[in-house]
Amino acid sequence: MTSAATSAAASGITRKSLQTTALLHRTPWVPPVATGGEGIYITLEDGRKVLDAVGGAAVACIGASSAHVKQAIKEQLDRLPYVYSMQLSNEPAEKLAKILTAGENNAFELVAFVSGGSEAMEGAIKLAKQYYEEIGQPQRKHFISRQLSYHGNTVSTLALAYHPARRAPYEAILDHDNFHHVSPAFAKRFQRSDETEEQYVLRLQKELDDKFLALGPDTVIGFCAETVGGATTGACPAPKGYFKAMKEVCDKHGALLILDEVMTGIGRMGTLHAWESYGDGIAPDIQAVAKGLSAGYAPIGAVLMSKKIVDGIRGKSGFWKHGHTYQSHPLACAAAVAVQEVIESENLLENCRDQGAYLAKLLNERLRGPNALAAPYTFDIRGGGLLCGIEFDFDSPARKVDLKGKAFAMEVQARALENNLIIMGMVGGANLEGNKGDHLLLSPAYNITKEEVEKLVDILVGSIEQVL
Ligand code: PLP
Repeated sequence: MTSAATSAAASGITRKSLQTTALLHRTPWVPPVATGGEGIYITLEDGRKVLDAVGGAAVACIGASSAHVKQAIKEQLDRLPYVYSMQLSNEPAEKLAKILTAGENNAFELVAFVSGGSEAMEGAIKLAKQYYEEIGQPQRKHFISRQLSYHGNTVSTLALAYHPARRAPYEAILDHDNFHHVSPAFAKRFQRSDETEEQYVLRLQKELDDKFLALGPDTVIGFCAETVGGATTGACPAPKGYFKAMKEVCDKHGALLILDEVMTGIGRMGTLHAWESYGDGIAPDIQAVAKGLSAGYAPIGAVLMSKKIVDGIRGKSGFWKHGHTYQSHPLACAAAVAVQEVIESENLLENCRDQGAYLAKLLNERLRGPNALAAPYTFDIRGGGLLCGIEFDFDSPARKVDLKGKAFAMEVQARALENNLIIMGMVGGANLEGNKGDHLLLSPAYNITKEEVEKLVDILVGSIEQVL
């Protein structure tokens, strides 16, 4: 028996005895218990080592065994595990804020640290509202975001986002008066065949402008979007010029641009902020980040504020009314500082861009090449950096596959796990109701090697072909 399997046996915690994660999954499936991790591999209760190609949920961006990060957490634990940020600041939090505001684009002035992505987006909503209260425009109360978006799992972020399946049980308690939606920026599915990319962007720009006008432009707080679509559209970058066009509408009506980079920020796209990957200099007024910030070594998220927002609040009440018990948690901030140091010292943004390009090349060859079994069904391979989405399409009767009523993406995910690979299968994205379409999401650690990329692709393609 391996040591990981021994540890599972000794603790008595096995797949059969789960009392926490069991309710999070569709029965009869229950997840295996993870007992260890090394690099980008996770060890399971039965001793198997599985390659984590999705970093949990696009979180574990430097793998599981960074000695530098572990040491930083231990040192901070010995020095000071906790202070309450309404009473005291702490060194790692200040250091982390400096790192996040230091980018060459100089977009942000202050940062607030919370405990995860949903909390960061909840914070972004509240900060934006308070900004307009403070600058004497309290009538602004509407948020506009997009269909097929995901911004978190709290009541407000579910209302802000538009993911029908996730909202369904809670529709009755969601705020339908203040949260509104426009079309997603998803060219592959929704750009019309008779329009160019530029015309598509102009159409989306007009739709946003029309929504402002319908709501009353001076009642809108801002437009909020994932910089690159993640959980709903599967690694979907916006068309060229999209954010410039959307910002023009926000500026015209005196509203804010709020970007959700919970999944795509902090290096995932090969740049510190995902908006930098578009190269058009369009920066948001408020931004949320999480996941890659601490690479999963501790729970943390952040709300990044531009000078405009900070000045607005400083000019009046002087403080953001948003205190949380675990805000700026010293251990989480120490972990995140150390993660950012690893990304910097090991030049991982460059590796992220290089290995991301290699991953996309191999996937295109193996899934779309002349002899590829999956070629007739592979609808799109998209993304950037180390965020990659693969979308399948089984619509054509000429290309029939009998899936026996099962969702292809979820079947591939299950088969991949049997083959020692963790990926994320998702249903949705192909229509605005979010209940049609099969895609797979890959978001491995930024320090993945070329050999590991090749192994990932081998297992993935094998798993796809097993299900076809
Ligand atoms: N926003 C986006 C774009 C996300 O992808 C997620 C999580 O996947 C969230 C917000 C919510 O973050 P968390 O799960 O950390 O609360």
